[in-house]
Amino acid sequence: MEILNYVIDLVAVLLLALGIKGLSKVRSARSANQLAAVAMALAVIGLLISYLGTPSFDGQAWIWIIIGTTVGGVLGAITAQRVPMTSMPETVALFNGCGGMSSLLVALAAALFPGTLDDGTLVAVVSIVISVFVGSITFTGSIVAMAKLQGWLSTPPWMQSKIRHLVNIALAVVCLVAAIKLITSDGSSQAALWLLVIASGLLGIGVTLPIGGADMPVVISLLNSYSGVAAAAAGFVVGSQLLIVAGAMVGAAGLILTQVMCNGMNRSLVSVLFGGALGAGSSGGGGGEYTNITSCSVEECALTLEAAERVVIVPGYGLAVAQAQHTLREVTRSLEAAGIQVDYAIHPVAGRMPGHMNVLLAEADVPYEQLKEMDIINPDFPATDVVLVLGANDVVNPQAKNDPDSPLYGMPVLDVQQARTVFVVKRGMSAGYSGIKNDLFELANTSMVFGDAKKVLGDLLGELKELGVGKK
Ligand code: NAP
Repeated sequence: MEILNYVIDLVAVLLLALGIKGLSKVRSARSANQLAAVAMALAVIGLLISYLGTPSFDGQAWIWIIIGTTVGGVLGAITAQRVPMTSMPETVALFNGCGGMSSLLVALAAALFPGTLDDGTLVAVVSIVISVFVGSITFTGSIVAMAKLQGWLSTPPWMQSKIRHLVNIALAVVCLVAAIKLITSDGSSQAALWLLVIASGLLGIGVTLPIGGADMPVVISLLNSYSGVAAAAAGFVVGSQLLIVAGAMVGAAGLILTQVMCNGMNRSLVSVLFGGALGAGSSGGGGGEYTNITSCSVEECALTLEAAERVVIVPGYGLAVAQAQHTLREVTRSLEAAGIQVDYAIHPVAGRMPGHMNVLLAEADVPYEQLKEMDIINPDFPATDVVLVLGANDVVNPQAKNDPDSPLYGMPVLDVQQARTVFVVKRGMSAGYSGIKNDLFELANTSMVFGDAKKVLGDLLGELKELGVGKK
C-alpha cells in the first residue's frame, strides 16, 4: 500500500509540474490546467487510500470526508462555470483565501489534538507556527482583497496615514512573541496559539486594506504565493511530501508572477505594499488636459481598414469591460477574409490581471498564433498600416519611454505610434489605471473613435459589410 502511495504521489507531482509549465504558453494552457486538475484528483485519491484501514478513520470520518468533498467540488464547479472574466481576480482571491484557511485549520488540528497528526518534533512545531502565521495572513488578506475588488470594502482614511505602519509593526511583534512562546512550549501553549492566529489574521487585514483597488491583482498574486508557502508548511505538519512539493511550486510560481507583474507595471513590490495606490484604479479619472485631439467616424475607420494590408489589434481593459471580444472576432474575420493580415498585440499587464487579454480573446476563438507578445510585435509596428487600440490606454502611452517625469516612465509599452495610422476606441478622454494623460491621443497619426467598444465594433462590422470587405 505504501509503495502504491509513493507512486501516486510521484505521478501527481510530475503532472502538477508539467501543468504549471504548460500554463506559461497560451496554446498549452487549457490542457495544462486539466493536467493539474488530474494531479489534484490523484493526490486526493492517494490520500484517501492511505487512510483505508486506519483505526481513527471510522464510518463517521468517511461520511464527513464525502460531505466535504461533495460540497467543495460542487461549489468549485458552479463558481468556475458562472464567474465572468471581469470577476476573475475576486475569484482567485477567494480561492487563495480557502487555501490559506485550509493550511491554518490543518495546523490548528495538529496543535489542538496532539497525537492525531505528526507532532512533537521541533520541525513539526515550527511548521505549525509557519502554517498558522502564513495561513491566517493569507486567509484574511485574501478576503479583504476580494471584498475591495467587489466594492464591498473601502480603505478607512486612517489606514492611508503613516499610523498603519505602526499598527502593522506592533502586530508583527505580537506574532513574533507568540511564535517564540509556542515553539519554546513545544506547541502546548494554547494562549500563544490563539494569539498567533488572531494577530496574524489582523496583520493580513492591516497589510491588504490600504492597498488601492487596481494594485490588488499584484497583491492577489503575492497572496497566492503565500497560500503555497502555507500549504508547504502544512505538508511538514502532516508529513505529506506531496503537499510540501505542491505548496513549494505554488509559492515559487506565485512569487515569479508577482515579480513579472511588478516589472510590467514598472512598480516595485515594496511600493505596491507600502506606498499606497498609483492611480485611481478605475477609468473615470481626468488624466490631464488634451488640446489637439482628432476624432473620426466609424465609417472613416472602416475605409482605412479596407485599404490596409496589415492590421494590429491592441486589446485593453475597456474591451473586457465592454465584453466586446466576440464582436471583435467577427470584425477580424471579415478583415482576414479580405486578405488583410491581422495580429493581436498582447501587453503583459493589459487588463486587470495576468493573462486577462489572452483568456478574453481565447473565449472568442482567436487563434493562439495571432497573439503576439510585446517584445515580438514591437519591431513590427513601423510596417503596420493600421493599429486598432480597443479600450487600452496605459499600455500604449509613449510617455513611458519619452518622459522621465511620468509615473509610467520605465514601464515597457507597445510602440503603436510607429504605425501609419492609429485608431483609439474609447468612450471619452478618461485616463486609464495610472490616472495620467496619454500623449498618443494627440499625435498626428492618431484618431479617436468615441464610443463603447462593443457598440463601435458592431457599427464597424456593419460598415465593413456595406463596403463588401471580406465578401468572396
Ligand atoms: P487602462 O489603462 O486601465 O485603460 C482602459 C481604458 O479603457 C480607459 O482609458 C477607458 O477610457 C477605456 N474603457 C473603459 N470602458 C470602456 C468601454 N466600455 N468601451 C471602450 N473603452 C472603455 O487599461 P490598459 O491599457 O489595459 O492598461 C492596464 C493597466 O492596468 C495598466 O496600467 C496596468 O499596469 C494596470 N494593471 C494591470 C494588471 C494586470 O495584471 N494586467 C494588474 C494591476 C494593474 P474611457 O473611460 O474614456 O472609455
